[in-house]
Amino acid sequence: MSRAPTLPPQQVWFAINVSRAMDKNMEQDEWIKHIHTEALKGIQDGIPWNLNTLNFLMLQNTAYGPFTTKSHAIAMAPAELDEESKDLWKEEIWTTILIPNVFEEGDLEYPDWSLCAIRYVCKTCGYAQIFKGSCGKCKAEGKPYTPTIKVRDWDGELS
Ligand SMILES: [Zn+2]
Repeated sequence: MSRAPTLPPQQVWFAINVSRAMDKNMEQDEWIKHIHTEALKGIQDGIPWNLNTLNFLMLQNTAYGPFTTKSHAIAMAPAELDEESKDLWKEEIWTTILIPNVFEEGDLEYPDWSLCAIRYVCKTCGYAQIFKGSCGKCKAEGKPYTPTIKVRDWDGELS
């Protein structure tokens, strides 16, 4: 039995660190909409990718992609997002946007988990530990149940 070839995705995801990338003269929602519109327009007008708005953000390390799934894109944020789309560790706002896939298969990105150290960070004292659960440092100081948050340390800041 032969396997059907996998079709390339019709659309691809990008993750954007809104807090770092945003034009501070604009409202956040307005800015995100603006970037999405500009990225789509660039594609529709056939402008080369290296001149696309999203590529400029990527060159500044404020956007990441293209990913084939939303969950891969949002994994670029260093922690889970709260209800305001702020990551729990750095407290920076992230968003994902979906655009038509104009990329070669080799250009598609996948999170390289070998580069990512998972750590559990205490928001009270800043201590980072490799095991899940309450903070070991706070515990040693008589505060036994201080929670930690799961962090994806892509930049090796905690090691
Ligand atoms: Zn602590």
